Amino acid sequence: MMQIFIPLNFLGFVYRELKGALANIEKMFSLLKAKPAIEDKADAPDLEIRAGRIEFDDVRFGYGEDREILKGIRFTVEPQQKVAIVGASGAGKSTLFKLLFRFYDAGAGRIRIDGRDIRDVNQRSLRSAIGVVPQEAVLFNQSILENVRYGRVDASDEEVMEVIRHAQLAEFIEQLPEGAATMVGERGLKFSGGEKQRVAIARALLKRPPIMVFDEATSSLDSHSERGILASLQQIARKQTTLVIAHRLSTVVDADVILVMDRGEIVERGSHAELLANDSHYASLWQLQQQERGVETVSTNL
Ligand code: ATP
Repeated sequence: MMQIFIPLNFLGFVYRELKGALANIEKMFSLLKAKPAIEDKADAPDLEIRAGRIEFDDVRFGYGEDREILKGIRFTVEPQQKVAIVGASGAGKSTLFKLLFRFYDAGAGRIRIDGRDIRDVNQRSLRSAIGVVPQEAVLFNQSILENVRYGRVDASDEEVMEVIRHAQLAEFIEQLPEGAATMVGERGLKFSGGEKQRVAIARALLKRPPIMVFDEATSSLDSHSERGILASLQQIARKQTTLVIAHRLSTVVDADVILVMDRGEIVERGSHAELLANDSHYASLWQLQQQERGVETVSTNL
């Protein structure tokens, strides 16, 4: 019974993780039900990841004929780089991720991973190469240890405990009466938004896919939780190609490249320091967020 339960439960988990990953993915699945899903080419081979380089080459896309949502997106994420995407609501950030997962095909242009057009490989291998840290992890009525182990079901207890430490969850767990064996869920422990996202990060660290997509939680976090998330995100970004949709600019300060999107276009790009040095939209956004946080002096030396 257990042997059947785990894979089914796991599949459900994968579905739910993806579902939570992108803001309006719910709408997307109903849409996919209504029209044929993207099909693999006959005998499409596996995506072979060598370095994890992602290229968007003049990508255009619209959900319908009438409105173009992505208007010629062009950028490259070099292996192990961290690239952050920022921009107003509706700019097209999540849409870009959906195309990377091939939930939709681009209307024009190409998306390549390690030089390979993602339309030429099978979707299973594409999706298994990309890890997702959704805004909120789905937690089950199991122990914390088991909840994290969903990242890779055959991981040992030691491996799970190690990623718990890296995801900055250890301190929180140590305060619990039963530590990592504490039950989570309806009758058990409740997690805050920040703690849930750190569980998602721990799962992602356990899975270690070559490419990681991080959808930052929009809900406001206290500064302690935010520091925790930032530290764990740095753990992820260290060895993997990382793409982050960021709502708080404090998350992107250390990104190699920040892409600022507006109405389907990349309007600015550069490092945090480069963008601040110019009279950019990013600089005014940064100042606004700093004021909101009650910081009076804007410093580039963070
Ligand atoms: P947010 O920060 O609010 O999540 P975003 O930058 O991620 O916004 P997208 O979710 O990519 O923006 O949406 C870009 C545009 O595409 C929006 O105008 C949105 O209404 C539209 N859109 C998104 N999903 C669909 C869909 N499934 N069908 C039709 N239009 C859609």
